[in-house]
Amino acid sequence: MQKSKAYDYLIIGSGLFGSVFAHEAHKRGKKCLVIEKRNHLGGNVYCEDVDGINVHTYGAHIFHTNDKGIWEYVNQFATFNRYINTPLAHYKGKLYNLPFNMNTFYQMWGLTTPEAVQAKIQEQIAQMNIGAPSNLEEQALKLVGPDIYETLIKGYTEKQWGRKATALPAFIIKRLPLRFTFDNNYFNDTYQGIPIGGYNKIIEGLLTGIACKTGVDYFEDRHYWDSLAEKTVYTGKIDEYFGYEFGKLDYRSLKFEQERLEIPNYQGAAVMNYTDAAVPFTRIIEHKHFEFGEQSHTIITKEYATEWTPGAEPYYPVNDRQNDALAKKYKTLADTLNEKVLFGGRLAEYRYYDMHQVIGSALVKVKHEFNPG
Ligand SMILES: Cc1cc2nc3c(=O)[nH]c(=O)nc-3n(C[C@H](O)[C@H](O)[C@H](O)COP(=O)(O)OP(=O)(O)OC[C@H]3O[C@@H](n4cnc5c(N)ncnc54)[C@H](O)[C@@H]3O)c2cc1C
Repeated sequence: MQKSKAYDYLIIGSGLFGSVFAHEAHKRGKKCLVIEKRNHLGGNVYCEDVDGINVHTYGAHIFHTNDKGIWEYVNQFATFNRYINTPLAHYKGKLYNLPFNMNTFYQMWGLTTPEAVQAKIQEQIAQMNIGAPSNLEEQALKLVGPDIYETLIKGYTEKQWGRKATALPAFIIKRLPLRFTFDNNYFNDTYQGIPIGGYNKIIEGLLTGIACKTGVDYFEDRHYWDSLAEKTVYTGKIDEYFGYEFGKLDYRSLKFEQERLEIPNYQGAAVMNYTDAAVPFTRIIEHKHFEFGEQSHTIITKEYATEWTPGAEPYYPVNDRQNDALAKKYKTLADTLNEKVLFGGRLAEYRYYDMHQVIGSALVKVKHEFNPG
């Protein structure tokens, strides 16, 4: 049958989901058009080159996965360096290693053996005498006791959520992993690193040979854009796609304050969390350390967690019961459009996805689309 439209797929959004889908469709001989409302491609993994330093414009991004297939997939487009995420916590002028491990416990209590640390934590938990926790604070105290909670969890969590820990539900923290080894590697995954040259290399590789338009908001003329392609892949906000028919989903947002400093090294680490509630930002990122940069200048970004209001960037879905129920209603509606529109990615699925997970989700969609059954 003769096709009447210029493209097989219109892909709305050039983040990892849209770019992986476009790449795989293009590889299979499909004509794709990617439209992106920002003035650059790449979604939240976009990096800006500031005099040789790749600045993670939308927050620090560290790639990690246990999935060999996904690791090989991204390695087609960039070589990864040996960066291992070893963040620090800054609390009232003292530094602690994260995640909670023997280094952290040594810094906190001067204890040198796992046995002594385990006994200390058990003693602290017992002192609190908490039955069924009724909020996040009680849950955390029951899991790790007051010293770790007050120093490393309370202030940071309250800043992230913009609410007191006693007003947050207990289920937000299911587990607080404690490591009784001297191991500062934040992730347990087999594969980890930062693409040399930044994430833009991966996006450029994925989108080679594909028509892309930036600075274009699909909703400004959705009928026109729909008319160009046989099928749509939508990676924007799912509630917005349906005109907020059932109501608005909630998000958490972020504010970034970037500074250029004419010194070679500001904090000696890429990621420093500020766990004291009195410090307004949650962390400082020093971007050059992701790629072992040796420039004479440095770029730091202070990250603030903020309330999401319409128009702000929706960074994190709020996966509580109310929002998940609302997202499910939209998903049911989305499923009825399956023949014409595919929904995917963190905004369209309303799920917090790490990069490897969003690539995995796109590859599953690709499989269903091109090899059904
Ligand atoms: C602060 C922060 C830190 C993170 N750190 C890590 C990390 O360390 N490791 C990790 O693995 N993952 C991390 N992630 C997660 C990672 O960013 C996501 O998994 C990934 O970027 C999601 O890709 P996506 O394509 O689903 O969404 P996005 O990257 O958001 O792409 C969606 C795109 O669609 C565009 N769009 C939306 N609506 C429209 C419209 N109407 N018209 C046109 N275009 C539209 C948007 O502008 C955007 O570019 C982090 C996320 C955040 C927010």
